[in-house]
This record gives sequence, structure tokens and C-alpha cells, in this order.
Amino acid sequence: MSERIYDIAVISGDGIGKEVVPEGIRVLEAAARRHGFTIRQKWHDFAHCDYYAKHGRMMPETWKEEIGKPAAIFFGAVGWPEIVPDHISLWGSLLQFRREYDQYVNLRPVRLMEGVPCPLAGRKPGDIDFWVVRENTEGEYSAIGGRMFEGTEREMVMQETVMTRKGVDRILKFAFDLAQTRPRKLVSSATKSNGIAITMPYWDERVEAMASSYPDVAWNKFHIDILSANFVLKPQIFDVVVGSNLFGDILSDLGPACAGTIGIAPSGNINPEGVNPSLFEPVHGSAPDIAGQNLANPIGQIWSAAMMLEHFGETGAAADIMHAVETALKEPKLRTRDLGGSADTQTCGKAIASLLA
Ligand code: ATP
Ligand code: MG
Repeated sequence: MSERIYDIAVISGDGIGKEVVPEGIRVLEAAARRHGFTIRQKWHDFAHCDYYAKHGRMMPETWKEEIGKPAAIFFGAVGWPEIVPDHISLWGSLLQFRREYDQYVNLRPVRLMEGVPCPLAGRKPGDIDFWVVRENTEGEYSAIGGRMFEGTEREMVMQETVMTRKGVDRILKFAFDLAQTRPRKLVSSATKSNGIAITMPYWDERVEAMASSYPDVAWNKFHIDILSANFVLKPQIFDVVVGSNLFGDILSDLGPACAGTIGIAPSGNINPEGVNPSLFEPVHGSAPDIAGQNLANPIGQIWSAAMMLEHFGETGAAADIMHAVETALKEPKLRTRDLGGSADTQTCGKAIASLLA
């Protein structure tokens, strides 16, 4: 059998990104040793705010050449609002990757694990276990529109939603494919076709058309308002939830919030065909308030590493990382401060890595 080598670009970014990325790498290396593959890393010293302070931009003009063609980008967090406004740091780094690499899927698991305090009363591990699939490139976030009659009584603004068949179908296909790998095989679609009379009925039509090619996958649809309420009231009814850019954006924050702390939630920005690299990062930001103190929870980064391995097809290694995470979370002395414990970032990361030895 030929050797399995995965090239990754590593960008730790700002703040706690610099602390949690090394823990993610520590765990990746442990998983690679155990499962007999190699993670070849290229660390990049850009896409952080110190780089901006020196160069007046977040990344070199030649960033694409410098990154080359890795199998994935392993990303920490970006942003240091005291030096660079968030919209500049974000647009100058992460959003460039999403756009240039056509990472049209934003994927987030929502899973309640033992040891994580759940904000929803009475919920136990096993009650909450689903995925949010967000369309990441079109929809409501278009730049088409403008202001008219400014400064007059007739002043008005408009902004268009753009949905293409290609854009809608490819995200739906991803969601149905994902559902097919799950025991429950259920897709729930976020819509609002009772109020948004042109784009959302189209979205619904495409869902129905896609569903007809997946006879083994069940599906349903909810208006976004009741869907959001159900995340809180009945999270157990969901398996794979798919939404447009705006609806998916909201659900992909609400979901992980329902399953506990922001410190453990991971995400993937995925180009499923593998034409371009996908990017895996924790949901949290650079957390300037706790940066540099070894207090951050590294599990969001470590879980992102597991998602990355899953994307590479290393499903056994990914499952082992998740098992190690679950084992660590059950151990009060390994919990970081956000989980009510007093373990530091490295203690938690090292413990998870050693469970994979
Ligand atoms: P973004 O810039 O991505 O929008 P943000 O700056 O609004 O994010 P975060 O940086 O995620 O927010 O931090 C929000 C809060 O959560 C902060 O108080 C931070 O301390 C806490 N937090 C975030 N990540 C972690 C973590 N890994 N461990 C512990 N606490 C965290
Ligand atoms: Mg921030």
C-alpha cells in the first residue's frame, strides 16, 4: 500500500489561535502516528494582525503561490481589533480563502457531549447530535443593490438575493450526501417561502428535486422562525439541517450555542470536490480577553483537526480523536476554565494527544 501523506498549510493567526493551533497539531501528529499516515506541515507567518501592522495588508500579494496546493488549511483565529478593525482582518484573510478556493460549504457539527454544560434545560448527551450545512457563496450576501433618492422623503435601499441553480443544487447535494452517511438519513431544509416569495419557493423546488434522487433519505422543511425555535425546544428532531447563506449563518451559530461552550465547536469551509483546499477552524475567534494566558480551550481546534481527517478519508483516526475528546471531557481535572475547570490549554491538549498514543 502506498504511503498516505497529507500536506497542510498551518495558519495560527491571532490571539488564542497561536495557543490552540499547536495543540491541534499535537493531536494530529499523535493520530497520524497511530494510524500510519503523515501530516506534512507548512506554517505560514501571515494572516495575522502583526503582519498587517508591518505590511499594511493581512497577507502577501503572492499568498496563493506561497500556500501552493495543500490538501487543507488548518486555521486558528484571526482578529485583533485594537490594531485592525475586524472587517479588514476578516476580509483580508479568511474570506479571501473562502472565495478564492470556492469553499461553498460551511459545515458545523452540533453535538452535546458529557462534561459540557448545556444551556438547554434537561438535555443529555445523545439528545443533540446534528449538522448544520450553510451555503457559503451566494444567496442573501450579494453586493447587488443600492440606495435611491438619497436625502429625500422617497429615500430607499434595495439589496438583491441571488440564487443560482448550480449554487443551490451543490449545497443541497452535499447535505443529502452527508445525510446518507448517517443512521437517521434526514435532511431538514430552512425556508421562508411564505414570506420571501421568489427566491425561497425556488429553494424549496430544488430541495424537492434533489430529494427525488435520494429515495433512501427522508426530508422535511421548516420556516426559519420555527426552525430556530425548534433548535432550542426540540433539538432531537434534527439530523442534517441545510440553509441558504443568511439562514445557515444564523443557524450555524445558534446550533453550537445550544450544545454548550463556544470553546469546543469546530467548523469546516469545504470545497467538496477537492479542486481547491478546504479550511478547518474552530468556531471561536481570537478571544483577546484571554489570549496569551494559556487559558483557552483547545478542543474547538482539536475537533476541527478531526473534521479535517474525516475530509481526507481518515475516518478511523477522526473517530479516535473524537473518542479521546469525549474521554477528556468526562475528566473534571482536564476541563478548561470555560467548562468550569482549571486545566490550562496545554494540559488539555497533551492529555488528548496521550490518549491516542
Ligand atoms: P469573532 O471575532 O470570531 O466574531 P469574537 O471576537 O466575537 O469572535 P471570540 O473571540 O470567539 O469572540 O470570544 C468570545 C468569548 O468567548 C470571549 O469572552 C472569549 O474569552 C470566549 N472564548 C472564545 N474562545 C474560547 C476558547 N477556546 N476557550 C475559552 N473561552 C473562549
Ligand atoms: Mg473577534
